[in-house]
Amino acid sequence: MAFDLVLRRGRLAATPGLVDIGIAAGVIAAVGRDLQPSGREELVLDGRVVLPAFVDAHLHPDKAFTAAALGSASSVEEASERFGRYRLTRSQEDLRRSIERSLALLVSQGVGTVRAHADVDDAVGLRALEALLEARQTWGDHIEVQAVAFVTRRAAGRFAEAQSLLREALACGPDLLGGTLTGVPAAPAVLQGLCELAAAHNVRLDLHIDETDDPAAPCLLEAVPGAARAHGLEGRITASHCCLLGCLPTEAARRIAARLREADVSVVTLPLTNLYLQGRRPGGAAVRGVTAVRTLLEAGVPVAAGSDNLRDPYSPYGDGDPLTTALLAGVAAHLSPSETLALVTTGGARVLGLNRYGVGVGDRADLVVIETDTPEEVVAARPSRRHVFHRGQLVAESTFTHRLLAPRPAEGGPCGRRSRPCGTVPPGLSDGPAGRDTGEEGAADP
Ligand SMILES: [Zn+2]
Repeated sequence: MAFDLVLRRGRLAATPGLVDIGIAAGVIAAVGRDLQPSGREELVLDGRVVLPAFVDAHLHPDKAFTAAALGSASSVEEASERFGRYRLTRSQEDLRRSIERSLALLVSQGVGTVRAHADVDDAVGLRALEALLEARQTWGDHIEVQAVAFVTRRAAGRFAEAQSLLREALACGPDLLGGTLTGVPAAPAVLQGLCELAAAHNVRLDLHIDETDDPAAPCLLEAVPGAARAHGLEGRITASHCCLLGCLPTEAARRIAARLREADVSVVTLPLTNLYLQGRRPGGAAVRGVTAVRTLLEAGVPVAAGSDNLRDPYSPYGDGDPLTTALLAGVAAHLSPSETLALVTTGGARVLGLNRYGVGVGDRADLVVIETDTPEEVVAARPSRRHVFHRGQLVAESTFTHRLLAPRPAEGGPCGRRSRPCGTVPPGLSDGPAGRDTGEEGAADP
C-alpha cells in the first residue's frame, strides 16, 4: 500500500519502543516498525509522543475574547448579565471573528474535535448560531465542530415563547441542542421541554446544569436519568458543569453517579471557569466548583473536560489548550496523569460519540505530535511545539526555539578554576536535546 504520509519513529502510549505510522486517504493505514514503502511525505519524530488529536468537549466561541472590553465577573449571573447586554452591540463580523479566532487557536493547540455552543434567544436570534455553522463549514478541513444551539438563560426563562425560534434554530442543522438550567425558574419543566425538542428533532442534548456550589440548591442532575429514559435519550445526553455534585457527601454523589451510568448520561467538567466562578459565596467555604470526577469515573460514567470560556466575562483566563484544562481538572480532582490526559482524549471522544478515534489501524488520522519523551509527561510539560494533523493533512505546526543559558560560574570558581564555559548546559539540567521546548515559555495565540 502507498502512503500519503509516514510519521517515523514516534512513541505511542500503549506500544513499547518507537513505531512508524502510515497514513493513506486520511486514515491510519499501518502502524509498525520500519514501514515500507516510503510515504509521499515523511516526518521523522525521533521519539516524540503521538496522540490522537485532543477533544475540547465544551466551548463558547461566540463569547470568546471579550474580557478586554467587559472585564471579568464574579458569578455566573453577573457574567450572563454583562455579556447579555454587550452581545446586542456585536455585529455579525464581530461574532465571526470571535468564533474563527477560537477555532484557529484550538487547531494550533492540537484539538481535532470541539463541541461549540452558540447562544439562541429572542435578543440575539439566530445570528450566533449562523456564524458558528458557517465557521463549521469553513474550518471543516482543520477541525470537526459539533455545533450546539444553546438555549440561553433568557430563552429558558421564557421557554413557551421561545418554542418557534428554537424550532427554527434546529432547522438550521446544528449537531446538538443545548441550554442552561442554572438559575432558571421552573427548571424541571424546561428540562422536560428540552428533552422533548431534542427527541423530536433527533439531536443529542448537552445541558448546563447545577452550576452552583450551594449545597442547599436543588440537584437537577438527579432528574436527568429519568428524563433521558422518558424521552428515549439514553446515551444522547451530556450534563455539563455539575458543580453541585462535587459539593455533596460522597455517598449521595455515588448514588447519583450510578443512576447517570444506568441511563448512559455523560458528564463534562469545566475546571477553568468553575474554579474561577465558584467558591465565592459570602460566608461559605471556598469549595472549588469542579464536579465529582473521581466518583463519576468509578461509577463508569464517561467524563470529559472542556475549556468553556476563552477570556470572556465568565473567565478572564483560557488559552484554548486542552492540556491546560486537563491540568486544572487533574489537580482539582486528584487524578493520575493518564486519567487526566484521558479527559481531553479518549474520555472526550466517548462523550462526543466519536468513532475511529485513536492511533490504531483504521482510526481517523487526526493526530497531535508532542515534544515529550513519554505520554505520562504530556500534561505536566504541556510543550508548545506540536504538529497537528487533521484527516492526515498537516494543519498546524508550532516551531519553537528554547535556549537555556547556563549560569556563569564565579571567575576562578569555588575551587580556584573555571568549571565550564559560559552558555553550555551541563548534562541533566536541560529538559531534552538542545533547542527543545521545555514548556516553560507558554504558547502565544496564533
Ligand atoms: Zn458553557
